[in-house]
Amino acid sequence: MYNPNKVTESIREYHGELTEIRRDIHQNPEHAYKEHRTAALVVDRLKAYGVDEVHTGIGGTGVVAVVRGKLGESRAAVGLRADMDCLAMNEETSVLWKSKNGGFMHACGHDGHTTMLLGAMKYLAKSRNFAGTVYGVFQPAEEGAAGAKAMIDDGLFVRFPMKAIYGLHNAPWVPLGKMAVRNGAMMAAADQFEVVIEGKGGHGGMPQFVCDPIVTASHVITALQTIASRNVDPADSAVVSVCAIEGGKMTTYNVVPREVKMVGTIRTYRTETQATVFARMQQIVETTAAAFGAKGTITLRKGYPATVNHPREAALSAEVGREVFGHDNVITEIFPNTGGEDFAFFLQAIPGAYIWVGIQSETSFGLHHPCYDFDDRIIPTGAGLLAAIAEKELSQ
Ligand SMILES: [Zn+2]
Ligand SMILES: [Zn+2]
Repeated sequence: MYNPNKVTESIREYHGELTEIRRDIHQNPEHAYKEHRTAALVVDRLKAYGVDEVHTGIGGTGVVAVVRGKLGESRAAVGLRADMDCLAMNEETSVLWKSKNGGFMHACGHDGHTTMLLGAMKYLAKSRNFAGTVYGVFQPAEEGAAGAKAMIDDGLFVRFPMKAIYGLHNAPWVPLGKMAVRNGAMMAAADQFEVVIEGKGGHGGMPQFVCDPIVTASHVITALQTIASRNVDPADSAVVSVCAIEGGKMTTYNVVPREVKMVGTIRTYRTETQATVFARMQQIVETTAAAFGAKGTITLRKGYPATVNHPREAALSAEVGREVFGHDNVITEIFPNTGGEDFAFFLQAIPGAYIWVGIQSETSFGLHHPCYDFDDRIIPTGAGLLAAIAEKELSQ
């Protein structure tokens, strides 16, 4: 009964229609929690496809579609997720479906993810070749504003209990025609820090009367480099990047400022490593500053947690993927990526897997690049993968 190839072949029949939807969403990008037109388009399509129920306004602009299978009674359910939001940046492509909203752009391919989930839901609503319920989860605000968490906080898993959730992201670092999934971390925890070094300002020509926050900050920055190299297990990894530094004036040549500020990002894959990095950063900032007679303070802000796949669901994704993409086209030996992803919140709440679908070709640009455009060629396989995973999870 369950045949992933057939699923993809059926969805291939809507490739033209889905490509139009994708380009329509691309042309009308909407930012975090403002995905009103996109959500309305999703609802309109879902109703036309004949899904059983459509729920709106979950976690802001989130939408959940419900499709029940025809293969007998079952209380089992799975979720398939897509993100709907765009980025606040200017598009520099020359495609006909270029963004009409100046300053906003689908530079991460969420237009494609939304479209592929629509394709999967259309197929599932038509075939209903499974036992149980499939929830199509269309989330807002993936880019930095934690739309996944907003949906969970709004009762997503209470109102729609599911045994597992799956999501995919197009990946310019995976070749077109292939997919990648691994057990464990796929994406990193992305945290922020802010450091203030407070010294005593004064005459640049009379250093004996000042406590120089610039020299102190330089030592702090150098010492921070030792966290990844000296405190983290070489088989694990961490990133500590100072990304901005501010102190003094570029027009003043003889004044030592009183204060230097810097901000940056931290990436880790494991909570233990995250705790180590946080503790070492605090120690380095405070004690290095103290060694120079200055005062160092650090504020650490947790962002998205690491996106960590569950073993069973990662294996199931790879198994289904081998049918959809071909036996040699599923990569499981791949390094996690140091980007952040709020699918992490779903994977902290329930089992599931996050999958990369390759778009790397001679013409592809990186995610968040002003010339990036989603590759419509992956619509049938991406949608097919999601639908086939649901069928596999809910097969009798
Ligand atoms: Zn992104
Ligand atoms: Zn993205």
